[in-house]
Amino acid sequence: MSKVKALDEIKNITLEGNPDHRTASVRLLKESLPVAEELIKLAVGVSPLNPISAAALTAFKTISSLVTSADPKCNLAIPSKEIEVTVNNNGDMVYRCLHSPAHEWDLSGRKIP
Ligand SMILES: [Zn+2]
Repeated sequence: MSKVKALDEIKNITLEGNPDHRTASVRLLKESLPVAEELIKLAVGVSPLNPISAAALTAFKTISSLVTSADPKCNLAIPSKEIEVTVNNNGDMVYRCLHSPAHEWDLSGRKIP
């Protein structure tokens, strides 16, 4: 399991979400990511009808909404673009921006080449 870094500590990412919720969203995101990560790993190859699949999906939706609440932007190209959380082909959660080509970070904040 990766060592999760808070979204506001990752280089080239700025947060533009409502300040009233941004700080809590970043903290709750950091606390929730390991849970969601474990559930998603457990759900690989499991029937969609299995409760673990539902738990993984719900956890992922929570993560996704917390990221939207923090409203991270990628500053690696101009203009800056939104960042969302997604699951890559290896089943790992990553942050990915909407630039083309997209920039990607793992949950420990390391940029994926
Ligand atoms: Zn980008």
